[in-house]
Amino acid sequence: MGSGNAIRGSRVGAGPMGEAERGEAAPRVKVAFWCANLHETRPSFASDAAIPEFWDCPRCGFPAGQDQDNPPAPPRNEPYKTHLAYVKERRSDADGAQILAEALERLRNARPLY
Ligand SMILES: [Zn+2]
Repeated sequence: MGSGNAIRGSRVGAGPMGEAERGEAAPRVKVAFWCANLHETRPSFASDAAIPEFWDCPRCGFPAGQDQDNPPAPPRNEPYKTHLAYVKERRSDADGAQILAEALERLRNARPLY
């Protein structure tokens, strides 16, 4: 009876120490990856582990990269783009044109009039 209590007590005390020994307290980093369908996945890696360039999307299986604006191409030959990718592309094109127009406008206005 006395020995049973002693064992239970030692198990409680061993818990945190055992976790530290198994390395569960090691720092981990979360890295975001985006696939061509713009699914975001954030696997975590040990801070000293090499982060892979690509990660398989758990939702559609496409390769996912760390650049949200340039996800890796899906593994098929036909040109395929999601509607959202089209919208994003159009929008950024329009933004670029607008920025350029504004820059030209500013340049014109800044030019002294003779
Ligand atoms: Zn996906």
